[in-house]
Amino acid sequence: MNRCGFEDKGEIWVEDILNLCVSPSKLIEIVKKPFVSLGGIIFEGYSVSSMSVYKDAAVLKHAEGKILWSRLIIDAMGNFSPVVKQIRKGRKPDGVCLVVGTCARGFHDNSTSDVIYSSSSTKSVGDSEVQYFWEAFPAGSGPTDRTTYMFTYVNPQPGSPKLEELLEDYWELMPKYQGVSLENLEIQRVIYGIFPTYRDSPLPAAFDRVLQFGDASGIQSPVSFGGFGSLTRHLGRLSAGNLLVFYLLLSASASKGVHEAIIGDFLDASSLSLLNPYMPNLSASWLFQRAMSAKKDSSVYPEFINELLYVNFQSMQRLGNPVLRPFLQDVIQLGPLSKTLGLVMLTEPLIITSIFKQVGIPVLLDWSGHFFMLIYYTLLSTFADPLIRPLSSAFPSKMKYEWKRNLEAWKYGAGLDYEL
Ligand SMILES: Cc1cc2nc3c(=O)[nH]c(=O)nc-3n(C[C@H](O)[C@H](O)[C@H](O)COP(=O)(O)OP(=O)(O)OC[C@H]3O[C@@H](n4cnc5c(N)ncnc54)[C@H](O)[C@@H]3O)c2cc1C
Repeated sequence: MNRCGFEDKGEIWVEDILNLCVSPSKLIEIVKKPFVSLGGIIFEGYSVSSMSVYKDAAVLKHAEGKILWSRLIIDAMGNFSPVVKQIRKGRKPDGVCLVVGTCARGFHDNSTSDVIYSSSSTKSVGDSEVQYFWEAFPAGSGPTDRTTYMFTYVNPQPGSPKLEELLEDYWELMPKYQGVSLENLEIQRVIYGIFPTYRDSPLPAAFDRVLQFGDASGIQSPVSFGGFGSLTRHLGRLSAGNLLVFYLLLSASASKGVHEAIIGDFLDASSLSLLNPYMPNLSASWLFQRAMSAKKDSSVYPEFINELLYVNFQSMQRLGNPVLRPFLQDVIQLGPLSKTLGLVMLTEPLIITSIFKQVGIPVLLDWSGHFFMLIYYTLLSTFADPLIRPLSSAFPSKMKYEWKRNLEAWKYGAGLDYEL
């Protein structure tokens, strides 16, 4: 069983969410064997120092001196990819999620997980105000081993909380949250992370022959730090949709969208950008991050974020699994989003003014544009796709490639790739 808990408010229980752990080392071993047997070579410990793009190839230089060339380079260097830094011109992220936590041994009550647990009110850390959220789940390394994370969303600026400060709070607050004593725990490892998010995501390809993938592409939700789940979901359109192909994709030898780009030689920046298209459902999630970020000198009461979450989760639970599950699995769809907003407005109309105060008019106006596009993409995917798809096989190859990408953008951008 998995809990969505809201301190001093209540809790909602769901099933089969956050119930899968992936061992990175096992996964890499599984996909490495076929990759190597097909002639793939892994340069472990090598660091990319530069890329040069030519008319017929892209050349990649390693700091260790090795030079490789390819028709297409897939940049899967994560959130801090040097290529992404160059594309974004060092611009500061629009939002950051800071995470600290541990995996520790000694939790005797270890059979359930917390998808999200929010603290009752905001708290001052240094010069900032933060709202803490928690996540906890059993770890695979032993029956009493448990991972617990504390995270918060911040608007990055001088005086924003440091990971070190959050970790100090974590040691103090985690025992109360989990009902344990630190003396009875054996810390296996300390975990921390910084997740930068940009409103203009996913990132279109800025250079010919270089395509961002995974966290580097900005395809992950700005609310959860479920980038792995997100990249596996998008494998369905970028590749044949399984983990073997995931690594073949990195070698760019066998995949769907990427394969078609290579076969057709559609490797210019604008053709590659169609593989990382605008997705209104992803852009619309930005509002949630803003709503969950505490602000200094805020005009809303300190318990507002916890209350807002509780009200929304309560509404989603009342509307049932078709509404609650896609949201918990990071997929925003028009129907569930509209129903939830409608129910919140009917049952808690007074909270609406506080939402306006919390996120501000410019963010709401921007969100309205994405909501409108979500309606448009849902209609296009539902009604125009069945008309265009049968015709597309007769299109000339470049046009066919472009239309296939448009159809995928409508489907994924409206969250219609999700099946309950
Ligand atoms: C604490 C924490 C918890 C998380 N929990 C979840 C979760 O529950 N569910 C989920 O779906 N996701 C989760 N994530 C996110 C998930 O780990 C990422 O989304 C995922 O790893 C992204 O994969 P990636 O291949 O795109 O990038 P990364 O895994 O970041 O890989 C990028 C790689 O590029 C390498 N690299 C960087 N620069 C260079 C260079 N110049 N030369 C060569 N190599 C370079 C890096 O060393 C790294 O190995 C979590 C992340 C953290 C930190």
